[in-house]
Amino acid sequence: RMEVGKLRTGCEEFDELMGGGIETQSITEMYGEFGSGKTQIAHQLAVNTQLPKEMGGLDGSVIIIDTENTFRPERIEHMVAGLSHKFEQDFDPAEFLKNIHVARAYNSNHQILLVDAATEMANKLKNTDKPVRLVIVDSLTAHFRAEYVGRGTLADRQQKLNKHLHDLQRFGDLNNASVIVTNQVMSKPDAFFGDPTRPIGGHILGHTATFRLYIRKSKGDKRIVKLVDSPCLPDGEAVACITTDGLCD
Ligand code: ATP
Ligand code: MG
Repeated sequence: RMEVGKLRTGCEEFDELMGGGIETQSITEMYGEFGSGKTQIAHQLAVNTQLPKEMGGLDGSVIIIDTENTFRPERIEHMVAGLSHKFEQDFDPAEFLKNIHVARAYNSNHQILLVDAATEMANKLKNTDKPVRLVIVDSLTAHFRAEYVGRGTLADRQQKLNKHLHDLQRFGDLNNASVIVTNQVMSKPDAFFGDPTRPIGGHILGHTATFRLYIRKSKGDKRIVKLVDSPCLPDGEAVACITTDGLCD
């Protein structure tokens, strides 16, 4: 087993909450309402992963499985500019964009297959100076939720999601990579998906994701990040800000 890496978020409180950063070889689930900032944080992590270790990165490249077409290259450019300010160094946004490999997933089966494609890509990059150190699935559950509607489909959906998460965990283990998945919660009770404060995916997801972060909006650009049910860290909250420059204290 390789030594677990820690990916810093750009927000010190957030890093402390996670015991120093987002771990590799683990799945970290971010769940929250629409607009809570899941995709923004995912973009920031796609940038930070590429930084050298002494700057809190993993010195690696990134794969994004984009299921909602919400990847925005210009956000990456803003965040790289933010890093240039922070570290007083000229980072090249084009270089960062080059190391983020985005794949659109058109439905849940395609999404599952893209983990195999990610594995191929990771094998290709394994012995380069930028091995894959982060895979993001944003959103993990949207396709499943749209496709599996009605009571009789629940067991089937959970089984598929379970397999998908195990594939992702395996990817993380084999590549010493962090795995980030996002999951929306409804602001209003949902007749089929039930309790609005629980993430879609229910129990199976609950047991597979090693770290679960509940993200919610606070005043202005502030976000509250809550660590829930961690097996090895105390529960707690952190305040982070989402600005044009990205995630910060
Ligand atoms: P969903 O569940 O719909 O996917 P999400 O949790 O992924 O939502 P995000 O898209 O990450 O939500 O967050 C959107 C919010 O991020 C915006 O409402 C805004 O507050 C903030 N945001 C987006 N772009 C910028 C920017 N360029 N500068 C500052 N804040 C931004
Ligand atoms: Mg989003």
